[in-house]
Amino acid sequence: SDHALVYPASPETMDWDSHYPAFAGSAKTPEFADVGCGFGGLLIALAPMFPDKLLLGMEIRVQVSQYVQDRITALRATNAAPEGSTDPGPYQNVSIVRANSMKFMPNYFPKHSLSALFFLFPDPHFKSRKHKARIISPTLLAEYAYILRPGGIVYTITDVKDLHEWMKTHLEEFPLFEYVSEEALREEGKGPILDAVYSSTEEGKKVERNAGDKWLACFRRIEVARVS
Ligand code: SAM
Repeated sequence: SDHALVYPASPETMDWDSHYPAFAGSAKTPEFADVGCGFGGLLIALAPMFPDKLLLGMEIRVQVSQYVQDRITALRATNAAPEGSTDPGPYQNVSIVRANSMKFMPNYFPKHSLSALFFLFPDPHFKSRKHKARIISPTLLAEYAYILRPGGIVYTITDVKDLHEWMKTHLEEFPLFEYVSEEALREEGKGPILDAVYSSTEEGKKVERNAGDKWLACFRRIEVARVS
């Protein structure tokens, strides 16, 4: 069917040039990945701040991923640089794939290629028998550690306390991740990223309208596994 998902056989077979035509031939691969990006608020907020990095959203819903695609196309067109300019204008560095991010992440991203991985307001899957559907699990963490470079950051945020505890515990227990406080990240200059994590996404704005809590937990991918 039209809606069948196709996955790259390996990162080398990904045609990034068609996703980022302004960067064609640069051999760059995405450095920021937004998993379950929804309507794309984070990507759109971060893209102009990191003009030299490629950003990729992954979204499983057909209409939602199409919406983000159209949104990016429109932003590229309305912000196009004047004729003759060598700077192609903003939003050339952001794109989206329709994908089930719980499958084949390493088929998209080369080993150690990501410096940031975002899980913003993921679906909570409240019932215990549904916990295996959660986007953070020991198996998936091994994949995330593989595609993240040492020093890279996993950002998680949710309005569901139970899910927050779940993500935090699993990340804490995984030997290649180390908890990093919001203050430490702000001191490193990652404040603008954190601000976008809190409030640039559609779900984050909804939580704000409902005066809900937001639970943040960030982890650094460390070079050598912790011995516990
Ligand atoms: N991160 C966005 C935000 O903060 O507005 C969206 C949050 S929404 C609650 C969760 C999103 O994850 C939905 O758009 C859903 O379709 C997507 N999603 C759920 N499971 C997914 C999967 N396995 N792969 C890719 N996207 C997924």
